[in-house]
Amino acid sequence: MYPARFEYYRANTLQEAIHLLQQHSGAKLLAGGHSLIPIMKLRLAQPPVLIDIGRISELSGVMKTDGRLRIGSLTTHAMLAASEAVKKHCPILAEAAGQIADPAVRNKGTIGGNLAHADPGSDLPAVTLALDGVIHITGRDGDRQVNASDFFLDLLTTDLKPEEVLTAVELPALEERTGSCYLKFEHPASGYAVCGAAAIVALGGDESCERAGLCFNGVTATPYRASAVTEALAGQNLEDATIDQAVTEHLSIDDPMGDTYASGPYRVELAKVYSKRALKTARDRARS
Ligand SMILES: Cc1cc2nc3c(=O)[nH]c(=O)nc-3n(C[C@H](O)[C@H](O)[C@H](O)COP(=O)(O)OP(=O)(O)OC[C@H]3O[C@@H](n4cnc5c(N)ncnc54)[C@H](O)[C@@H]3O)c2cc1C
Repeated sequence: MYPARFEYYRANTLQEAIHLLQQHSGAKLLAGGHSLIPIMKLRLAQPPVLIDIGRISELSGVMKTDGRLRIGSLTTHAMLAASEAVKKHCPILAEAAGQIADPAVRNKGTIGGNLAHADPGSDLPAVTLALDGVIHITGRDGDRQVNASDFFLDLLTTDLKPEEVLTAVELPALEERTGSCYLKFEHPASGYAVCGAAAIVALGGDESCERAGLCFNGVTATPYRASAVTEALAGQNLEDATIDQAVTEHLSIDDPMGDTYASGPYRVELAKVYSKRALKTARDRARS
């Protein structure tokens, strides 16, 4: 199908994009176009105006400062997967980005578009949440920052206002003796996560779990943080049996999504299996 008619503008700077958003009510930003154009072709979205931000160079790239990575919103999945800084300081993000779909999608799709679109099957929202990322947003009234835990509000719905631009994502550089892992059970046609598990494990000097993070994509409308599991792991020696027990006893997900491909209860079962595997791999990486 062809999209409905729309006007097209290209913004060359962030300020120009914000100005165009103010001028055109109902306008949508176009980044990599790999979520927006498909839904326009299906006529699920019919924005009257597209504002192409894809060539604003100030919004692209990875910078490390003061123990944190600042990732411009236009950084593509392929750039994340290949970035030495991301692989060294935030390897779970490179691991997840490298699993997105195929090279065509990875070369065009952007981290900002992925988070702003907030598809429950996307890979990067759960990773950003597990890392306690901070989303940087600019609009008419200036800049603001939102914690990932407050950013994803509902299915395909975020805290972004219509006239705002997601400019960057800030993530902590993982420290020594911290391991991470992203695993997913993917839909065989699209590659989207039926269930994705993002796990972080930080070990103390005595090998016990100092801190852990565990979040899922694909199971609920917004990325799901399994706090009860990670609370049960804190201070424990992370033997396989300890991880298995914490997941079995403490992972309970209310209101999972279901569709013709995978029912809600099936997705919850996947979450149990993938969280055990992801936590064990993160632990092994923290030890090595
Ligand atoms: C065949 C196929 C398979 C895919 N498989 C996967 C997969 O396995 N895992 C996965 O995670 N994703 C997958 N995707 C989605 C892909 O990652 C998208 O590229 C991504 O979700 C959206 O990024 P984009 O840059 O293409 O955004 P666009 O499509 O350009 O925009 C998406 C939405 O975000 C808004 N937006 C974009 N950038 C900004 C910004 N900076 N500020 C505010 N709003 C913004 C747009 O207005 C639009 O509403 C797949 C896509 C396709 C076509």
